[in-house]
Amino acid sequence: MSYLELRGVTKVYGDGSTLVHALSNIDLTVEAGSLVAVMGASGSGKSTLLTIAGSLEDPTSGEVYVGGRPLTSMSRNGKAQLRRQSIGYVFQDYNLLAGLSAVENVSLPLELDGVAARKAQKVAFEAIEDFGLGERATHYPDQLSGGERQRVAIARAVVGERQLLLADEPSGALDSTNAEAVMRLILAACHRGLAAVVVTHDAQLASWADRVVFLRDGRIVDQTLPAESPDAFLADLPQS
Ligand code: ADP
Ligand code: MG
Repeated sequence: MSYLELRGVTKVYGDGSTLVHALSNIDLTVEAGSLVAVMGASGSGKSTLLTIAGSLEDPTSGEVYVGGRPLTSMSRNGKAQLRRQSIGYVFQDYNLLAGLSAVENVSLPLELDGVAARKAQKVAFEAIEDFGLGERATHYPDQLSGGERQRVAIARAVVGERQLLLADEPSGALDSTNAEAVMRLILAACHRGLAAVVVTHDAQLASWADRVVFLRDGRIVDQTLPAESPDAFLADLPQS
């Protein structure tokens, strides 16, 4: 089942003489349990794509379906509820709240969604432990390394019953070891059933995705499907 679908999505910024076509007629579907990587030069529309897919902005035209529901049919409150319950965001600069500990950052979205504080903290602590940060749970963001902060941010994005993960250059500020660790956590979330869209500049990390979408000037110019597995390739060879 496709959890996220963009149909004919166009986004035009500005008015009058200075129109920017940030996205032009984008069609994209992301299945539950699959990872789509988005690549493209600066200004090609990658962040706009994620923002619109995450209902944070409306397209100028076209439709976005999340969990089969068209966003244009939803009220502002409906979209806010969808974001709280179903969509996790990860950004390059972590966006953790400095005044909250790691575990409090992760429990916050649950508490905002009405989960009782103690239950939320318990679930958040389990998520933090799953991510190998159990001993850092009560640390504040400025007491964590970049890689640790991003792991907390991903824990916050996937905690609860989230079904869509949108990550905008999540490894952009990290060294390759931490970048791989972050990508591995995103992949693990997909294997548990989340649909994910990850913007990355790193072709190596992009190659972990089920599909890589290339954007240029707001258009999808290419989509690569993953190479078939070696086993499937060998099975297709004529038997000798
Ligand atoms: P990327 O993430 O690939 O670098 P963006 O999606 O941020 O690209 O931007 C795509 C284009 O849209 C760029 O030309 C950018 O300047 C423009 N743009 C993005 N956001 C806005 C905005 N809020 N107002 C006006 N133009 C914008
Ligand atoms: Mg961007």
